[in-house]
Amino acid sequence: MALIHCPACHARMSDKASSCPNCGVSRSEAGTESAERAVRELRRQKQRMTQMWRLLAMLLFVAGAGLTVMSGGGKSMLGVVGTSLAALGFVGYSALRVHALFSKRR
Ligand SMILES: [Zn+2]
Repeated sequence: MALIHCPACHARMSDKASSCPNCGVSRSEAGTESAERAVRELRRQKQRMTQMWRLLAMLLFVAGAGLTVMSGGGKSMLGVVGTSLAALGFVGYSALRVHALFSKRR
């Protein structure tokens, strides 16, 4: 069994497989209009997911920062939770940005 690249989305797939496990395009219909539409749809779904996660991370950061301010510093339990949430949101948002940068380069 050898690994080849899907002609539509370039994901790795077995040369024994009749259709791509990533985009579902069969090897015989690759390059056709329906195959390209399937790949476009897949890409759009991924973009939507990324946007949703980015929004979630931003909300987490804002909520955490708000909690920190409301608790009046980082000393109280609420402040610690707020700071942690804000940090988590910030790290998550940064990770998504970096991921977007790398996936654009390919
Ligand atoms: Zn594919």
